[in-house]
Amino acid sequence: MNDSNEGAVDIRASELDALPREECGVFGVSGVERAAELAFLGLYALQHRGQESAGICAVDDDGVARVKKGTGLVADAFTADDLNQLEGSTAVGHVRYSTSGGSRIQNAQPIVVRYSRGDLSIAHNGNLTNGNELRSRLVEEGALFQTTSDSEVIVHLISRSRHETVEAQIDDAFTHLEGAFSLVLTVGDTLYAAVDARGYRPLVLGRKGDGVVVASETCALDIIDAEFIRDVKPGEVLKISDGRIEPLRSLPPAPKPAPCIFELVYFARPDSRIWGTSVDRARRAFGRRLAQEHPVEADCVFAVPDSANSSALGYAEESGIPYELGLLRNHYVGRTFIKPSQADRDFGARIKYNPVREVVEGRRVLVVDDSLVRGTTSTSLVKFLRQAGAKEVHFRIASPPVTHPCFYGIDMPSKEELIGGRHSVPEIAEQLGVDSLGYLSLEGMLECVEEFGPFCDACFSGDYAAPLVDVERGLSSMANPPGC
Ligand code: AMP
Repeated sequence: MNDSNEGAVDIRASELDALPREECGVFGVSGVERAAELAFLGLYALQHRGQESAGICAVDDDGVARVKKGTGLVADAFTADDLNQLEGSTAVGHVRYSTSGGSRIQNAQPIVVRYSRGDLSIAHNGNLTNGNELRSRLVEEGALFQTTSDSEVIVHLISRSRHETVEAQIDDAFTHLEGAFSLVLTVGDTLYAAVDARGYRPLVLGRKGDGVVVASETCALDIIDAEFIRDVKPGEVLKISDGRIEPLRSLPPAPKPAPCIFELVYFARPDSRIWGTSVDRARRAFGRRLAQEHPVEADCVFAVPDSANSSALGYAEESGIPYELGLLRNHYVGRTFIKPSQADRDFGARIKYNPVREVVEGRRVLVVDDSLVRGTTSTSLVKFLRQAGAKEVHFRIASPPVTHPCFYGIDMPSKEELIGGRHSVPEIAEQLGVDSLGYLSLEGMLECVEEFGPFCDACFSGDYAAPLVDVERGLSSMANPPGC
């Protein structure tokens, strides 16, 4: 989607090297005893949004913040002892995944600092598109940075603001930011939640007893039995204390909101509700529309699990072709020290997926995936399915070709590495080795979720709504890439 004065931007691979490739989940809670334990559970539910590091900061009644961060999964990053030491009824938490940037623990969040108004912590999801510009200005003014994360820029902007009140300082800081931020922060034991003017990343509000919870997705409310209140709206800044939610001055509204459609395609969990829609229902609608746009005769439909399960069900419902479990996914795949030979390009997919021979053998199979990024997984999968005896392999993708990288908080490679950025659909079909290939059209996808939009579809269209300040000013190759 496109705001009036913005258009497609030509981005070279070299410019992307130092750009953010992060994905994150955030959680905040106010007014609930043992808030850190709730944050731990909330992060557990948001684990799919980041597996590289996890952190929780809890604030006690005296406004003292304590933080624990670790690398790896939530379950590995904290012990019961850690959670006991994180006292207080206010907490924020963060999970992060990154393919670039500084060392993993260095950039783990929440970032916690002590400034003139008390202890401040911040957990940020989304990428600022002017993070490097702001950083270099702050560095020139004498700011000392401890991380390579763009989230730290926000901390400096708040602490350096000349405004009187904390609220005015936060407000002042936000007016400098371009790009995507859905964040929770604490100053003393007051919790704040904010979403950028276009609302790229989801943030939902919930109630837990007398307390208030904020999270990237509703699945994090469900796990702690909190009641969903509503989405935090684009541009909203909320102050949360003593169980009260007080809207502060909103950010100047963008011409159009731009929630990320890729959250519905791939990133969010299907049991979450964001932006007024169930993620599962959106994916089913994509699958049904895909079946209308690209029908084919096949004996069974199955998904590349798990992200395409809902869309494959939609395809099966619409086409009447029986739904099967033709591919199994190993859920315990972590890092492995066994390095396959250079020649084994399929290793990544091989340890993760295996076809069910009884479903596949001698049959015309229709495989639905949510998206193609580099195309490496699907190329391997087609090979495995043929090895398992599939007679025909038809691939259907429940989103349009990904042609452009994301600068707003989804990890995408450069345009050159995106299979949809370099090749036509027939070329991709040939590379994959499929009997047929069909992508959901952009128009079809947007129509499926029309009532919840408009959406940012930059990864499919190249229409970047928030200006790519760092890219356009040649600041993207700075040594310090922004963080999450
Ligand atoms: P590939 O085409 O081999 O790069 O991988 C495509 C698969 O990666 C799809 O099945 C998606 O489910 C998944 N995928 C899409 N976007 C992302 C992302 N940002 N991070 C990790 N996996 C993704």
